[in-house]
Amino acid sequence: MKTSRPIRARIAPAAILHNYQLARRQAPQAKAWAVVKANAYGHGQWRAVEALRGEADGFALLECENAIVLREAGITQPILLLEGVFSARDVRAVIEHRLTCVVHCLEQLELLVRNGQFTTPVALYLKLNTGMNRLGFTPETLAKAWGILQQLPQVDVTLMTHFADADGERGVSEQLERFHQMAGDWRGPVSLANSAAILRHPQTHGDWVRPGIMLYGASPFAERSAESLGLQPAMALESAIIGVQDLVAGDRVGYGGTFTADRPMRIGVVACGYADGYPRHAPSGTPIAVMGKRTKTVGRVSMDMLACDLSDIPEAGIGAPVTLWGEGIAGSVPADEVATAAGTIAYELFCALAPRVPVGLDDTATVTRK
Ligand SMILES: *Cc1c(COP(=O)(O)O)cnc(C)c1O
Repeated sequence: MKTSRPIRARIAPAAILHNYQLARRQAPQAKAWAVVKANAYGHGQWRAVEALRGEADGFALLECENAIVLREAGITQPILLLEGVFSARDVRAVIEHRLTCVVHCLEQLELLVRNGQFTTPVALYLKLNTGMNRLGFTPETLAKAWGILQQLPQVDVTLMTHFADADGERGVSEQLERFHQMAGDWRGPVSLANSAAILRHPQTHGDWVRPGIMLYGASPFAERSAESLGLQPAMALESAIIGVQDLVAGDRVGYGGTFTADRPMRIGVVACGYADGYPRHAPSGTPIAVMGKRTKTVGRVSMDMLACDLSDIPEAGIGAPVTLWGEGIAGSVPADEVATAAGTIAYELFCALAPRVPVGLDDTATVTRK
C-alpha cells in the first residue's frame, strides 16, 4: 500500500546483481545458488529474482509453493529447496517442477521414495551433519541412505554441508575434514560455502556455492565492513523528521526516560519505530543519517518513532530526510553498524522489515552509487 507516512524501503536490483557477480568472481570455478529464502532476506523474493533472472545459475529457498511460483513465472534455472520436502504433495511437486531437493534425514528420504515415481532424473542434495548439529546425515544414517539411493537409478546426487563458523574464529577446517571423511571417495558434485566461506575459505568452493547475505550487501563478518569487501547495500530504509524538540540540560527523551540531555540539545523525531522493523534494542548512540550528515539516535525506540540528535544539523527541520540504514538520499549508514549497535546482525534487520513499510525499487542506484 502506498502511504504518505514518509517511511520507505528502497531496493536496488543493480546492487543485488553486482553482489551476485562478486560472489561468482570469488568462486570462479563454481556455480552459485542465489539464496532468496525469507522473501530474499526481506528484500522481496521477486525483486531479487528479477534482478538475477538472466544471471543466476539457480535460486535457493525454503517453500515448495514459492518454488512453484518461480517455475510458473518462467524461471528455468534449477531451484533448490534448502530444507527439502515436508509432505507427499511436495514430493510430487519436486518431480513435476524439476526442483532440486535437499535430503537431510532418512525419514525425508523415505518420504521421497514412497511418493515419487523416479522415472525422470531427480536432483538431490544429501546434507551431511559435519558439526553444526542442526540438519544432516551422520556417518551411520548416511550409509543407510546410500543403500536406499542405490535402488533409485534416476537420482543425481550432490553432497552438501553447512558451516557453523565460517565467519568466526573456528573457521571451517574441522567441519571440512569431517565432510571429506564422510564423503569417502565421492567424486561427484559438492556444495559447502555460504557467503562467509565464499569470501574467506576458497578451499570450500566446490561445485556450487550458496551466497545469501552478501547478495544483499551486508558483511558476513563482524569485523569487516561490507564496503571493504566490495559489496553494495541493496536496501535503504528511509524516513523523515516529523517532530523537533529543543531540550535543556536535564530533559529526558522517550519511554523510560533512558536518555538525559547533559546540555541544550535539538532533537529530531523520526517516523520509524520497532513496528516498522527497526530494532527496539538499538541503544542511544546508534548511527543514523539526516540530510546527508551522520548523527546518533537518542532514547528508546518506540513503536512508531525514534529520536535523533540534530544539535549539529541546524538545517534539519520537519520533513528533513533520514536514512535509517543503507545508502539513502539522506546519507549512508551501513546496516551492519546499526545491527552491531543493536546487538544483532544485518540478516535480522532485513528479515524484520515490517509489511507496513512500503517498498519501492531504487532505479537510480547505478547512477548515484560510486
Ligand atoms: C541461508 C543459507 C545459506 C546462505 O547463508 P549466508 O550466510 O546468508 O550466505 C547457505 N546455505 C544454506 C543451507 C542456508 O540455509
